[in-house]
Amino acid sequence: MTEKNFRAVLTGSFSTPCGDNPTVAMMEAAYAHDGIDARYINCDVSADHLGAAVRGAVAMEWVGFNCSLPHKVAVIEHLDEVADAARIIGAVNCVSIRDGRLLGDNTDGKGFLASLKTVTDPSGKKVLLLGAGGAARAIAVELGLAGVAHITVANRTRDKADVIASLVRDNTPADAEAIVWSGDLTVPSDVDVVINATSIGLGDKEARVPASLEGVNDGCIVADVIPNPPMTHFLRDAKARGCTVLDGLGMLVNQGVIGAELWLGRTLSADAMERTLADIFGVPQ
Ligand code: NDP
Repeated sequence: MTEKNFRAVLTGSFSTPCGDNPTVAMMEAAYAHDGIDARYINCDVSADHLGAAVRGAVAMEWVGFNCSLPHKVAVIEHLDEVADAARIIGAVNCVSIRDGRLLGDNTDGKGFLASLKTVTDPSGKKVLLLGAGGAARAIAVELGLAGVAHITVANRTRDKADVIASLVRDNTPADAEAIVWSGDLTVPSDVDVVINATSIGLGDKEARVPASLEGVNDGCIVADVIPNPPMTHFLRDAKARGCTVLDGLGMLVNQGVIGAELWLGRTLSADAMERTLADIFGVPQ
């Protein structure tokens, strides 16, 4: 008789509120597609219970978990080790558990970088980063570490852009500057990569990022972090001008792939993840 194994590999996510986070569907679709007996459990964890949740994951021998809002910074004090990029970013959204030890990573910027690398080599590139929140911070650090030449961080709140520019200059080989973003920003023609890392466009396909792409060069790559709807007004405008575009859905899928690699040591199907999210978001395929 064949030996049966009823013990699944356990992974999941800690955040609150968690009901609108579709990552569980994306990950379980990929586990099923690749024939892996693993679960991804979407847990609503309050700030007060974060430590207990982390200890619980270790006790139950989970192989890892994602941390989403509001735990990306608070989780760090519960970890044994933090990867270099996550330490520079100052936030962890993916934790691996190996032999009872907790290792923190940040996949936000890595997911973006993986998308970018499908269309260009980032080294030596000149980047305009719109926004200075958590996503922008992670992207800026990963781009700096990946060898871009220069990053301009544009934000309506100057202080936050200053912090990210300093972070890049002090911790990566890249140069960086901060600018205040008020009114319509004209994207300079010598920029190689423009990224909307603001929340403009989330859930609103007509929302306009106040930036003009009129003068961008033909080879310019225009990216958006917004996963839903993936084809934002910003990307539609860029596409109409002949630019190469990268959407936030791809960035999110790449984060799932990277997380699974960290937890299981396996590269799961990005297609299965993308189909699942596109279906949930109602994106025509
Ligand atoms: P934050 O709240 O940390 O930052 C939001 C940023 O958007 C700030 O820079 C803010 O400017 C700017 N912003 C918001 N509204 C406007 C506006 N009307 N005009 C100009 N700037 C504006 O959010 P996050 O960085 O965590 O997330 C940003 C987006 O990235 C979200 O929509 C999220 O869904 C998406 N995201 C996507 C991921 C993916 O894998 N695709 C991963 C992570 C995030 P200010 O500082 O002046 O307020």
